[in-house]
Amino acid sequence: MPKEYDLVVIGGGIGGYSGAIKAAKAGLNVALVERDLIGGTCLNRGCIPTKAYLKSAQAIREFEGISEFGIETDAKYNVKFLKVKQRKEEIVGNLRNGVQSLIKMNKIDYFQGEGSVLGTSIFTPKSGSVMIKPQGDADEIILTPKNVLIATGSRPASLPNIPVDEKNILTSNGILELEKLPKSIAIIGGGVIGVEWASLLHWMGVDVSIIEFQDRLIINESQKVSAQLKKEFEKQGIKIHLSTKVESVVIKDGLTKVTAEAGDKKIEIDSEKVLMAVGRRPNVEDIGLEAANVDFDKHGIKVNEYYQTSAENIYAVGDVIPTLQLAHVAAAESELAIDKILEKNVVPLEYENIPRGIYTYPEIASVGITDGSDGHEGKAKHGQFDFKFNGKSMIMNESIGQVEVFSDKDSDDLIGVSIVGPHATDLISEPSLGIYLNATPGELGSTVHPHPSLSEVIMEAARDVDSNSLNK
Ligand code: NAD
Repeated sequence: MPKEYDLVVIGGGIGGYSGAIKAAKAGLNVALVERDLIGGTCLNRGCIPTKAYLKSAQAIREFEGISEFGIETDAKYNVKFLKVKQRKEEIVGNLRNGVQSLIKMNKIDYFQGEGSVLGTSIFTPKSGSVMIKPQGDADEIILTPKNVLIATGSRPASLPNIPVDEKNILTSNGILELEKLPKSIAIIGGGVIGVEWASLLHWMGVDVSIIEFQDRLIINESQKVSAQLKKEFEKQGIKIHLSTKVESVVIKDGLTKVTAEAGDKKIEIDSEKVLMAVGRRPNVEDIGLEAANVDFDKHGIKVNEYYQTSAENIYAVGDVIPTLQLAHVAAAESELAIDKILEKNVVPLEYENIPRGIYTYPEIASVGITDGSDGHEGKAKHGQFDFKFNGKSMIMNESIGQVEVFSDKDSDDLIGVSIVGPHATDLISEPSLGIYLNATPGELGSTVHPHPSLSEVIMEAARDVDSNSLNK
């Protein structure tokens, strides 16, 4: 007899496990199916391991600048990359154990294997049963849930003419398995993954080139921020080729040659490795979507604002649906889907007000509109304050960057904040809360902020919207 559940979740990444835990806490009888490691992309192959590497890169940068703090040393540093990798693996392992304990504590039945949804048949009269193919020779298991949550995530995309071998031509998965730093790397794609890897590898001593098809890096941020990152990267020694389309990569004698077209010019870039960072594709294959009548296309599974698919009782969240591919978005979507299953009153997510962070040096973060153009021409008021005028930034010797605040000219509501500078990805939470609570820049600016702190830059930029900054 198939075992019955209130909810079966397919995929144990942040989208899947957040929903499973929330549902179990609400008293539902829940099963979670994962084919690989619990924690998914973010924990095992994305956010967490790359940020662990970035911390090592930051340590190098701080060591190189130590004389600025009045400390002289003749000591040299050596990057013991295996140790850097081991540290990353320990952090990932600890977090994975944490998720595993939460699953146990909340009495979620955990199944290791490939999960797929089934259509109707004599054995499964209702669409939405789940089949699990365990690894090895064990028999398939069928579960019959009231509801299914699909959170199968995404995988790195590649270009049709470029043979990824995860040895010389790597994706963001393969690069995390390297045991030795390459001397040089050509990164195809100047999006978020491309610039984060460029930044961390550069500080670890790798010669980095970025090749980007568009005329600027990080296309989702403002023109100003893109240009600023390019300028800072070039100052550091990272080579950037914009408006350049990669045509082919060949591997010869263990080295790579990228051939690309920049206008009517052809360029060639020789390097030890290539990283493909040209986006991610949703994992929609082999999970039974056609059989279960779930609509999808190459962009992912189609859902309504409550994450219900075209099949009654099947929900989908995270990178497998065509919304922002961010870990915190997957978790938020998953919680809302569970609220819907629990028949609670659900307010749909406002995607434009979700904070975004880019963990480069300098760090970048934004929420809402980023430059008063994107459909807000003439409708936005703007304020700005630079980190170089802030006491805490001076103390930290971190003076690059600024906070920009945008408000609606008519309603005075805060509609966007863009930050380039130290701890941008932490600082963005305050303006995100401001937007969520419909605050005005005046309210943000009249909130007393601790002194000295980096957060004063947000306060000053907010005050600058009404020309009220005392320090400008
Ligand atoms: P992306 O879509 O952000 O960037 C890919 C870039 O590759 C684009 O700028 C595109 O123009 C370029 N490109 C495509 N084909 C090319 C070609 N032939 N030659 C040169 N350039 C080419 O994708 P990504 O950087 O791979 O990131 C994937 C997803 O993961 C994104 O949605 C991103 O938001 C998410 N992510 C987020 C974070 C974070 O929030 N810090 C970190 C990593 C990944």
